[in-house]
Amino acid sequence: MKESNRQIAYFSMEIALAPELPTYSGGLGMLAGDTVRAAADRALPMVALTLLYRKGYFFQQLDASGWQTEQPVEWVVDDFLTELPQRVTVTIESRTVYVRAWQYDVAGTDGSPVPVYLLDTDLPENSEWDRHLTDYLYGGDTWFRLCQEIVLGIGGVRMLRALGCSGLQRFHMNEGHAGLLTLELLYEQAKKAGRAIFNQTDVETVRSLCVFTTHTPVPAGHDQFPLEFVRRALGPCCGDLESMKEVFCCGGLLNMTYLALNLSHYVNGVAKKHAEVSRQMFARYRIDAVTNGVHPATWASPPMQALFDRHIPGWRSDSFMLRYALSIPPAEVWDAHQKSKRRLIEHVNKLTNAGLDVDYFTVGFARRVATYKRADLLFHDLERLKAIAAKAGPFQIVFAGKAHPQDAKGKELIKHIFQARDALRGHVKVAYLPNYDWDQARLMVAGSDVWLNTPQPPMEASGTSGMKAAVNGVPSLSVLDGWWIEGYIEDTTGWAIGEICDLQPVGQDRIDCDAASLYDTLEQVVIPAFYKNRGHYVDVMRHAIALNGSFFNTHRMLLQYVLKAYFE
Ligand SMILES: *Cc1c(COP(=O)(O)O)cnc(C)c1O
Repeated sequence: MKESNRQIAYFSMEIALAPELPTYSGGLGMLAGDTVRAAADRALPMVALTLLYRKGYFFQQLDASGWQTEQPVEWVVDDFLTELPQRVTVTIESRTVYVRAWQYDVAGTDGSPVPVYLLDTDLPENSEWDRHLTDYLYGGDTWFRLCQEIVLGIGGVRMLRALGCSGLQRFHMNEGHAGLLTLELLYEQAKKAGRAIFNQTDVETVRSLCVFTTHTPVPAGHDQFPLEFVRRALGPCCGDLESMKEVFCCGGLLNMTYLALNLSHYVNGVAKKHAEVSRQMFARYRIDAVTNGVHPATWASPPMQALFDRHIPGWRSDSFMLRYALSIPPAEVWDAHQKSKRRLIEHVNKLTNAGLDVDYFTVGFARRVATYKRADLLFHDLERLKAIAAKAGPFQIVFAGKAHPQDAKGKELIKHIFQARDALRGHVKVAYLPNYDWDQARLMVAGSDVWLNTPQPPMEASGTSGMKAAVNGVPSLSVLDGWWIEGYIEDTTGWAIGEICDLQPVGQDRIDCDAASLYDTLEQVVIPAFYKNRGHYVDVMRHAIALNGSFFNTHRMLLQYVLKAYFE
């Protein structure tokens, strides 16, 4: 496909492109990657833009007490990416910063790739400080972040033009980080009309081009920059910013979310509940819901892939077909899952010496270690856990997750899980895998018997790892938040935690209530089903694939974006 025929530009601060490339930190980047992979499957005329992170997010090391330290990720850029000859510049504090792009082609099932351009400022023409601008994902302070977002938003649009993308009809901002692209589009419009400064007509035109997906109900998740930073970084353009303050900012701040909200004709949250919460946060805006998804061919384990290839040919390019998982013989589903489970347990034992048992009921929990995700809720009452293992049947737990380097509370949480692991020795086996990443996620979501999620509602915008588990026939045991509100059918696709706890005030009472509900459900429903009613357990597994795998995928998600935002 010629670059001039590409119609949708997808911008994301992180995109997970391949397990070897450290260009993501967690769910946002995985979603972006799974979106691009689905676009390639459907031969959608898309290009994607992100930054090249020469040092990645970070490599996680955990000491004997569970204390996390971070190392830069070492990787060789030109082993994976192709450098392009084009150069563009952005101006930061009146300095000219040169930007180059590296290309990575994401191949689809029918071989029509979506090109991804990774922007890089590590050029000899640049000052030492500017050269390191694209080193780290989510590293540095507010000023550093603003400069990175100038490279992504403004540099990104300029690079697309330099590459010949002249026919772009939509600019999709995956979260507010890329919001500054709207400024560049405004200047393009003004320039086209022979004006130096943009006006209301330009704003309308740019709105018709832009699409914005907001991803977090956590206020800290929304980037804000002091206007003086913006003025210092961008210079003269801020004259316009001042005159259009109501469009871009509030209270002396450039708020990237408001910028994107005001300059997009279509805005959505990433699950129904999240859209509802976002409408409360941003009352003046029309905010729709497009629930996230995952790319099944990326997340199905090799044994599951072989199973689907046998029974549901065509499932790779058309995820809706996973509905027919209901006709796969239960024994074959169980057999494929056992193979996935062996793969996980061998990996965990080799890495951690935890001595996990393939026949034990295995609980998986892995995601970024942010406090609202409450990774330690399962360890609320260790005596109760021991009692459950003694009474309902033996079980073991596999954990993984990175805390943001500046999140002291998150780091304490990992230590707390290590302490619980030691306290449970002899009763419940617990393993914590270091350096959670794509490869470990793949093993975990397929090899666990149940996928646990215990966020503090309504903080989980969507969550996607439970969807990856569903594709592998692994049911979720989860607090009702994010996608699970839509995906759970009790005792059919998995199990809910804390349904009655919504009446509890946020705080200790809510935590006690959720923990009690988690223990009761494990002890009385989930573990007994696993050991004593295997037929029913496998039926839940098949329904997880058929009902949730067939819907919570990026093929369905992308179709909704096409209908509602891209080509409407
Ligand atoms: C899917 C994924 C996530 C996101 O998981 P959530 O359940 O949405 O929090 C984070 N990290 C990795 C490596 C993943 O694969």
